Amino acid sequence: MPDQRFHLILLGAPGAGKSTQSRLLGHHFPLTVFATGQMLRDEVVKGSALGLLADSYFKTGTLLPDDVMIAIMTERLRALPQTQGVLLDGFPRTCVQAEALDKLLIELKRPLDAVIALDLSDEVAVHRLGGRRMCEGLGTPFALHIDDPESIAACLRLGGNVTIRPDDEPEVIRERLRVYEAETEQLIDYYGGHGLLHRISAAAAPETVHEQIVTLLGERHATVGGT
Ligand code: ADP
Repeated sequence: MPDQRFHLILLGAPGAGKSTQSRLLGHHFPLTVFATGQMLRDEVVKGSALGLLADSYFKTGTLLPDDVMIAIMTERLRALPQTQGVLLDGFPRTCVQAEALDKLLIELKRPLDAVIALDLSDEVAVHRLGGRRMCEGLGTPFALHIDDPESIAACLRLGGNVTIRPDDEPEVIRERLRVYEAETEQLIDYYGGHGLLHRISAAAAPETVHEQIVTLLGERHATVGGT
């Protein structure tokens, strides 16, 4: 019986639109989305020990220690119902995390189907992040851009708050892009070597990028034994 669950990783520099795409994919496929950045921001709001730790890394745009992130994701993946597939947004982010994830997925008998890398130039990423605001208080926070005042007004009208992520300050943005290039970009070669990588330009509108991913996954699913 072929495995009907999807196991996916979304890679991409800050600003590439990982969280937007993972939200859209979570609506389209029967997937649980684990978005590590949002998980950590939720902990900051709760004021937990993990949240306090995360906050100190957000302020500098650097990564939390591998062992902390591996422990969190191990716990989450072990607790995932057997029938559910998963989309990982923001994990792994280093080779150490990728190797730990490989071992865990083998142990849990959850083979990876695809790794989707969203490609974006630094220039566009800086523009997106520099103008990004978050709409909070209406369920899961979502991103808006100062170039789109109508969406900002709609968020406020519905009773949401428009905020700025602490790591979207200009000097922190530069550090996050540097960290992505130094730590995470090598995962493109790592998963390319495993024959799992698909690269998609993230410069287009979110709906267009989403359609491209859905098409790609539809084809991939057919080739791995789905209907
Ligand atoms: P972005 O990809 O836009 O930088 P995320 O919301 O995915 O944003 O992550 C925000 C921050 O959370 C990161 O800059 C980092 O400090 C922390 N973080 C998230 N995932 C990981 C991870 N897998 N390893 C280490 N730190 C992480």
